[in-house]
Amino acid sequence: VKGLAQKATRKQTKAHNRRLVLRTIYEQGQISRADIARVTGLTRTTVSDMVDRLIQRRLVEEVGYGPSAGGKPPILVSVVDDSRHLIGIDLASGEFRGAVVNLRGKVRHRVSLPLQGRDGQVALTLVYQVVDELVAATNSPLLGIGIGTPGLVDPLNGVVRRAVNLEWQDLSLRTLLQGRYGLPVHVANDCQVAALAEHTFGEAQGLENLAVVKIEQGIGAGIVLDGQLFHGDTCGAGEIGHVTVVENGQPCRCGNLGCLETVTSARAIVQQAQILAQNDARSSLHRFAAHPAALTIREVCQAAEAGDEAVQQMVREAGRCLGIALANLVAVLSVRRILIAGSVTGFGSLLLDVVQQEMTRRSLAMLACETEVGMSSMGPDMVILGASALVLTHELGLFAPSTNQVWHQALGEEAKEGETGADD
Ligand SMILES: [Zn+2]
Repeated sequence: VKGLAQKATRKQTKAHNRRLVLRTIYEQGQISRADIARVTGLTRTTVSDMVDRLIQRRLVEEVGYGPSAGGKPPILVSVVDDSRHLIGIDLASGEFRGAVVNLRGKVRHRVSLPLQGRDGQVALTLVYQVVDELVAATNSPLLGIGIGTPGLVDPLNGVVRRAVNLEWQDLSLRTLLQGRYGLPVHVANDCQVAALAEHTFGEAQGLENLAVVKIEQGIGAGIVLDGQLFHGDTCGAGEIGHVTVVENGQPCRCGNLGCLETVTSARAIVQQAQILAQNDARSSLHRFAAHPAALTIREVCQAAEAGDEAVQQMVREAGRCLGIALANLVAVLSVRRILIAGSVTGFGSLLLDVVQQEMTRRSLAMLACETEVGMSSMGPDMVILGASALVLTHELGLFAPSTNQVWHQALGEEAKEGETGADD
């Protein structure tokens, strides 16, 4: 038994070192073997061995010579960005969107299929259709599939516990997709995936702690703590959309009254704008009075920007309620950076200023003044990129510290003879 345990430990150490070497090359862009040894603290022999294996697997290539330090100029190696592709899927928009993405998060091919109110098994079939098209669109070996889905998700088991709009309950998305495509599958809540996108590819790159509040039809926060996604014991960390902000307010789809979602979600803002359009002749939105359904968040943003007082007042109230929720978030997490993402970012500083003001007013002054709220600039690919980061992290160890072994063990990865990944 002792021998087996030692062998297992050796294997783990080797896998850890391989990940460390690959991550170092990835982060540095171009680097010599000697410098990898210096950065990682591994011996030159170990590094040479690892780099040769990575070259054999075509994940890494020699790209030329670096400046000489007197003797022979060192050979530089670099990651081959398109040597592997992966699939990122966003199930949280009005349509199902997916993309083939390379190792640097560059989108190589896209597919989007309208959802048109479909749910249950039919919606699942639509997911297959998106992935089928994407798998067919690339010739590079695929590392895996990453999915950002609305609802409560158990990321460890890849199960959607409950997604109200899609009518999914205890859906084993990972098992289903792994069985169909024979690829590793990673599933997480769309807001959490959005936070990972900012942390991996966005302006919040490298921050230890971060909260991203995603505001679309619903509202949720993705939380990164100590450089890792925080899911919580019940996988519901960051579900701030159903915190009450208005006593006896509007009914919410969760059954309660006055949830944050009933005031600040894109859906709620458009609904209020539709009422405004019909009842307020002075509002510029009154031109939609006869056909309020044609009104979208974009027109509401434009009206606010053009100085429509009634619309601005509505946006300020939405911001005030968001500020209440963020004050609580800051008190619990003590994060320095909060980013707002989604279509409401179109309201810009009109929304942002009120949010920051209200958050500060309701917080311990010292905490709030050190917390900066900003607008995300990642755009509509956010969830796709975050889902891709999920795959890159867990299949190649590119971003998260490799001490995060829980995932790898859950996937039986250390024992697996991977064909596409860094481990062999
Ligand atoms: Zn609610």
